[in-house]
This record gives sequence, structure tokens and C-alpha cells, in this order.
Amino acid sequence: MVLLNPSTLRQDFPILSRQIHGKPLIYFDNAASSQKPRQVVEAMVAYYYQHHANVHRGAHTLSVEATELYEEARRKVARFINAPNPESLLFTRNTTEALNLVAQSWGRQNLKDGDEIIVSEAEHHANLIPWQLIAERTGAVIKAVRLTPEQRLDLEHCQSLLSSRTKVVAIAHMSNILGVVNPIRRFADLAHSVGAVMVVDGAQAVPHLPVDVQALGADFYAFSGHKMCGPTGAGALWARAELLRAMPPFLGGGEMIRKVYIDHSTYADIPMRFEAGTPNIAEVIGLGAAVDYLSGIGMQAIFEHDQALARYALERLEGLEGITLYGPRGDDRGGIIPFNLQGIHPHDVATALDSEGIAVRAGHHCAQPLMRALGVQSTARASFYFYNTEDEVERFVEALVKARDFFATFA
Ligand code: PLP
Repeated sequence: MVLLNPSTLRQDFPILSRQIHGKPLIYFDNAASSQKPRQVVEAMVAYYYQHHANVHRGAHTLSVEATELYEEARRKVARFINAPNPESLLFTRNTTEALNLVAQSWGRQNLKDGDEIIVSEAEHHANLIPWQLIAERTGAVIKAVRLTPEQRLDLEHCQSLLSSRTKVVAIAHMSNILGVVNPIRRFADLAHSVGAVMVVDGAQAVPHLPVDVQALGADFYAFSGHKMCGPTGAGALWARAELLRAMPPFLGGGEMIRKVYIDHSTYADIPMRFEAGTPNIAEVIGLGAAVDYLSGIGMQAIFEHDQALARYALERLEGLEGITLYGPRGDDRGGIIPFNLQGIHPHDVATALDSEGIAVRAGHHCAQPLMRALGVQSTARASFYFYNTEDEVERFVEALVKARDFFATFA
């Protein structure tokens, strides 16, 4: 049984009352981006209507107010992931930018020819390509942890890949396809045993479960606001302050400097060193409001709700003839269900579901190496959040049966 009361929470999300093709919307594409509650939109509107000015610059009242709202959001987001201090929480556009920042800034300074970067074959491209780019430049080599037969990351394989050349272990906290929550603390202990840094892609975890970056043993932790009820354009990178302080800037420009001369400059302390130019002020304030909203519900309750919906969906889908379900079963599984229907392209499945008002994603989900490991080109994917209900899962299962039977008539 689900724990939360989605019918009350749903009132905060006007979009959830929409009809799509004459049917009530069922939004099961939360792993791609969540919907936004009024509270987040209103925080951004209030900022624009009452407080807008550029931050960190002016002595005038509006600039002071805008700066205070922006910095208050930093304190909220830092507390939300139990960061030990707010200055080591940097705002970025999204997870992708945060991981590029780590790879370029930390990587340029710390990686050399023959060093090794360990990722997994289940990573999102955002946690692969930044490492490929820096590996090309530095001569570092990328190795990948493979999956166990149950489709979990193989910790023993990770251990066997470690050596004195390992400098980075970069793993997602929760898989955007398999739905599994990876044992980051254990990966971090392995990374630290050879002096490597632990980089965590938290894009799917921060929206869906309680995250404590200190307890996880992370050195870098990246996430996106738009998957956690916040607006697009605001994400974050948390890192251990001593690592950040030793890193060169990622982008250069206004705000990030101490002294500028024509041919050289000195740089500001963190966090400003990594926030060149005018930031996404309204979006960051919206992310702060999203954190308040999620904290009001409780992250443990959200995780248990997602898990209960996933268990229910898996039970209902398991018996469906022609379905292949991916990902492990167990308490480490969040609310993401990847699947294929035999003989039907996932895009056709998604289109058939859309005609019933149901939004799911189909494709390689920015994880082509994982698709290869699973032996498929693509999958369909349903992903849940706290505003989804068992009734919606029921309608989804009925729509899938209808789609399967419809396509069977052409087989
Ligand atoms: N990492 C994971 C696990 C994701 O699921 C995603 C987005 O789906 C990303 C990284 C990239 O997030 P963004 O596009 O917000 O940078």
C-alpha cells in the first residue's frame, strides 16, 4: 500500500488535471523531468515581481534582497543533502554541467597519461562523455564496472578493476533505467582504498530518497533541480571544500575573480569561483522552494511511496504475456520500470500509451552502453513520483494490454 495521500498533493500540480487526447493525464515520465507544484512557480513569480535585480553586485536594496534569496536557496539545498557547509554547494544548470565541471576542472589538474577512471556500464551519458572528453586530453583510460546477472552493479568486478592508477570512481546513485539504488558507500570505500575520488551522479537519487553526502563518503555529488519539482536551469554540484579550493575555475568571467589584469587574474574563493556570470537566479530560488516542498512531504515517505508503486506495477506486469521487465527485484529498487513488449517497438508502445493519456519514455534513455549490455536497442520506461497513484498504475496496465492486443492483430 502507498503511504502518501497523492490526492491532496496533486492539488498543488495544475498540470495533473489536464486531459490528453480526452483522457486524464497519467504522468509516468518523472525520471526525465518531474512536474512543478504551485509553491515553486509562485516563489519564482514573487521573486520576479518583488525582488529582481542582479545578485552579489549592488549596494541597492533589490540587489541585497535578490542576493539573500539566492544565498538562502544555497543554504536550503546544502542542508537537504546534509552538506557540512553551504559554500561547497555550487549552482550549475543541471547534472550534466556539474559533472563536466568536475571532469574538466578537477580532471585537468589531477589526471595524467595512464591514469584510470572507473565508471559503470549502466551510466547515463552525462556520467560518461565528460570523462571521455578529459581522457582524450590527458591520456587517462576509462574502465567500466559490469552488471551482475541480477542487473546490479558488480562490486567485486569494481574491486578487481582498482589499482594504484585509479584516480576516479564515477557512479550513479540511482540508475535512470534499472531503478536500482547503488551502494555508493561501498563504492566510495573502494575508491578511497586506492586514493581515488568518488564522484556520484545523483540525478535520480536526490529527487526520490534521503541523501546524505557525508554518510555516503562522496567527494563530488551532482544533481538536477528539474527532476525534483524545481525549474529547469538550476542544478547543483556539492564537493568536499578542500577539493574545490584546490581546483581551477571551470568557466571564466564576472563574479568569479579577485583581481583581474590584462594577462592574468586571481580567483574568488568558493562558491563564487565556480559561478561565473549572472546565475539562473529565479531558477535557483525555485529550487530552494522545491527543497522546502519535498522536505514538507519527507524524502523517506517519497521513497517508500515510489517503491510501493513499483512493487505493485511489477506484480501486475509480471504475468503479462510478451512483456520483458528489466532491473533487479528488492528493497534497493526505486520507482522506475523499464520494459519491452515482444515484437512491438518501444516508440509504438509509448505512442499507444499516449493515446490513452499516459506519458512514458521510450528510447535508449541516454544509456547506450547499458542497452548493449541488456541486449536491446531501446526500452519503454514508466517512472513514478509521489503524486502518482495505484489507480494510475492500474490504467497503465490496462492500456498496455490493449496496446499489446492491438499490435498482435498485425503480427
Ligand atoms: N544522470 C542521470 C542518472 C539521469 O537520469 C540524467 C537525466 O535523465 C542525467 C544524469 C542528466 O540530467 P540533466 O539532463 O538534468 O543534466
